[in-house]
Amino acid sequence: MSVFTHAEFDNHQHLSFHCDPETGLRAIIAIHNTSRGPALGGCRMFPYGSDDEALTDVLRLSRGMTYKSALANLDLGGGKSVIIGDPRKHKTEALLESMGRFLESLGGLYIAAEDSGTSVPDLKVMGRHTANVAGVSPRPGFDGRPSSGDPSPATAYGTFVGIQSAVKHKLGRTDPNDLEGLTVAVQGIGNVGYRLARHLRDAGAKLSVFDIHRENMNRAVDELGATPVGAEEVLFLPVDVLAPCAMGAVLNDESIPRLQASVVAGAANNQLYRTSHDHSLWQRGILYAPDFVINAGGIIDIYYERVGGEPDVVRQHVENIGETLDEIFTRSARDGRPTGQIANQLAEERFEHHPASAGMSG
Ligand code: NAD
Repeated sequence: MSVFTHAEFDNHQHLSFHCDPETGLRAIIAIHNTSRGPALGGCRMFPYGSDDEALTDVLRLSRGMTYKSALANLDLGGGKSVIIGDPRKHKTEALLESMGRFLESLGGLYIAAEDSGTSVPDLKVMGRHTANVAGVSPRPGFDGRPSSGDPSPATAYGTFVGIQSAVKHKLGRTDPNDLEGLTVAVQGIGNVGYRLARHLRDAGAKLSVFDIHRENMNRAVDELGATPVGAEEVLFLPVDVLAPCAMGAVLNDESIPRLQASVVAGAANNQLYRTSHDHSLWQRGILYAPDFVINAGGIIDIYYERVGGEPDVVRQHVENIGETLDEIFTRSARDGRPTGQIANQLAEERFEHHPASAGMSG
């Protein structure tokens, strides 16, 4: 297993491996870049097939967090952690406590949030040994309503704002609150997808939805008047907007030639199977809202849990996602380059030229 020459290494600043035979913990923390502040990113628990698979995942995810936070204008760097193991079989309090001590040993360079395989209660167990966990405190959400710390409402709202920006650029719909008749296909009606669908319905959009869990799809049909469609159909409908809100890699060599949407704008992470697929979308004239820009509402929300901030401030910051996308879409049209490339360049401008920041502490 190579490290410095690993294909995903990309000049990571710090990489830590931790093994605790007593609890069975084997974990990696990757810190990609802290020029904007301490690294914040999820702690994923997954039964990786090999150490190399775990390393590849943590490096890729950690780098992605640097770009996401920079584009959201947060004083945060990029980092991520992985615990090697099956969350349903190997997750014990002792293991999570050991992870808490591992986090603490980095002295605040990295702050962990929940991710797949970990939950808010798990983070709270880690938090017995460190203050370097985030997304765990109940407080008023960005909309002023009580929040458990779950970032999904802010992610959904940011994605809605991003769709408003995309349809303004692509379809000339200049009144963001009037999306009457806009057709949107939503894939995945979970925590984010359902809330996004509700924002869209409230603005007048017509929804087509699919979720592998029938009860999630039925909820959108019953409560939001959405039209249920099939698994194969949802990506390829002749709609204004396709909003992937389930899993990654849905934009690939097979799907892109068959898309009929004018805009792809959804909350799912890692929608492009390969980075170059943003070019394929661009060549087809489909406006793509880069996922790490449009789905940043959650990290913005978590950031304010750490530094404090009134709901209005959080809401305004989430709404800035629309302005960032405006800039990306405008530059893309001006320079004749795909939106993903422009977003990466803009992020690099923001984290490479940012004065070293003390940011938040522990
Ligand atoms: P979730 O698990 O609550 O919802 C995902 C939904 O997708 C579920 O209802 C699931 O049944 C459905 N699904 C899974 N595979 C599917 C498929 N093949 N076709 C259709 N539906 C399928 O997760 P979430 O928190 O809503 O997150 C959704 C996406 O947004 C994920 O990619 C996540 O990484 C990303 N994201 C979430 C947040 C957040 O704040 N929750 C922040 C940033 C990015």
